[in-house]
Amino acid sequence: MNWERSCYCGRSTTKLKSWTDDNPGRRFFRCDVHGFVSWSDIEKQCSWQKLSLLEARYELKALKESLRTINQQTIEEKKTQTRFEFNSEEEEEKKMRLEEEKKKLEEEKKKIEEEKKTLEEEKKVWKENEKLLSQFIAISWAGFIVTVAIIIALLK
Ligand SMILES: [Zn+2]
Repeated sequence: MNWERSCYCGRSTTKLKSWTDDNPGRRFFRCDVHGFVSWSDIEKQCSWQKLSLLEARYELKALKESLRTINQQTIEEKKTQTRFEFNSEEEEEKKMRLEEEKKKLEEEKKKIEEEKKTLEEEKKVWKENEKLLSQFIAISWAGFIVTVAIIIALLK
């Protein structure tokens, strides 16, 4: 089949379908300037009607194909959309989880700081106790020495 045929003037032609009573559905090449150039099925004149039907069927098939492609594209788009929505939801969850972990960590930090404070206070108390204890020991020693001195003085 000759899909492209140029006019004798050299211009490329457009393939069109004839709608005349004599040649309904028959394809022909048309020059923009000179009009009709030739039938597209000039080599197989007897089968042009069949060819026209085949072409119609082919066109229908192509149409169906493009429709299917469009439908698939729509489905794909929907899928990507839902996937995108899913992604954002997942990210939102991750964010929330991170936020919670951050909160927990901050709380733990606070607890640790509080424990540190209590420990320092206890340390202070201990130091005071130690002071008191050493004072007490010093006083006891002094008392003991005084007592011993008194006893020695009494024994003299
Ligand atoms: Zn021409």
